[in-house]
Amino acid sequence: MPELEKMFGGRLAWLSARRKRSKEEVILLLMCSLSIPSILPFGIYRLLQGSWISAAVDLALVAAMLAVIVDVWRTGRYKAASLGVTLFYSAGMLATIHLRGLSLVYWVYPTMIAAYFMLRPAVALAINSVSMLVLVALLTRELELLNLFTVVVTISLVNLFAYIFSYRTGLQNQELHTEVERDFLTGVGNRRALDGKLEAYAAERRPHPGSCLLLLDLDHFKQVNDRHGHAAGDKVLVRLCELMRNHTRSSDQIFRYGGEEFAIIATGAGLGAASRLAEGLRAAVAEEPLMDGHPITVSIGVAGMDKSATPEEWLMRADKMLYAAKQGGRNTVRVDNPAAPPANAERV
Ligand code: GH3
Ligand code: MG
Ligand code: MG
Repeated sequence: MPELEKMFGGRLAWLSARRKRSKEEVILLLMCSLSIPSILPFGIYRLLQGSWISAAVDLALVAAMLAVIVDVWRTGRYKAASLGVTLFYSAGMLATIHLRGLSLVYWVYPTMIAAYFMLRPAVALAINSVSMLVLVALLTRELELLNLFTVVVTISLVNLFAYIFSYRTGLQNQELHTEVERDFLTGVGNRRALDGKLEAYAAERRPHPGSCLLLLDLDHFKQVNDRHGHAAGDKVLVRLCELMRNHTRSSDQIFRYGGEEFAIIATGAGLGAASRLAEGLRAAVAEEPLMDGHPITVSIGVAGMDKSATPEEWLMRADKMLYAAKQGGRNTVRVDNPAAPPANAERV
């Protein structure tokens, strides 16, 4: 591929793009690719037969699929394309049945199932319901009532099964996704979830004004394990997370950054509010008996999440502040920016 690119002056760059494609994108590309060899032979056959309008419908479908493949491959934008392809498929199917008659009614079934692969189940069901009504209107004159009823019942059943299957798969995916991003011990988000959120935040065109990142580390936690055992240490981690949940807003997000270190994204909080939050948390941990007979404290580093820096830089700044808090004697808060200091938080 590099040789080809050299030859064609980079015009093949989109072909060699190594971007990771979403599964929705891959499904759409696959459906469109499969539909071309399924429809093209019919289009050619109609052309040879001289059935110009039917041939035009088939070839228009093939051309549209090709256009979608090229566009989605290059841009990765699949949402509007998925809706467009489904509508186009449905309209093409109805036009073909209208033109060629009843024998083509079998195309309804794969076309309707394909909609569930590309769209949310409710949207697919809505489009298919409208298609079925149009189909009934088209077939009313051609079919006896009993046969028409059979067509309606079989189409309805196919849609019901496809809807249930698609809905259940969506739920399972969601559950799997939640589990993959959850810390097993404490139930808060894990490092993967934090990285994802920071990346998403950095990619937002219009980010929430002034959000902050807090990095929080338990002081001398090794001593807790050494003196009271690992299981007791685990309980402290769980209780600390409960405390953090109780002392943060629902819009603040808590993650286990690793070991006995946690991260909080204080959404929409400027440095002043975030350092007050950090100081409140520090004081709450120091006051709360998280473990009988062993005082537990935390050190916290706070940094802003401004758009001029990357997620790695936000983490680095907060980590630097955390290190400064440790150096400053632990059980303290350090904030990256000297603006608007809160009453109790020390600043670097
Ligand atoms: P510092 O104040 O400098 O942070 O001291 P520290 O002892 O907390 O830091 P250090 O990095 O020396 O030790 C971290 C300890 O955290 C050691 C490790 O056993 C403990 N730890 C990490 N993950 C877990 C966990 O999931 N459960 C328990 N019980 N302990 C853990
Ligand atoms: Mg520690
Ligand atoms: Mg640590």
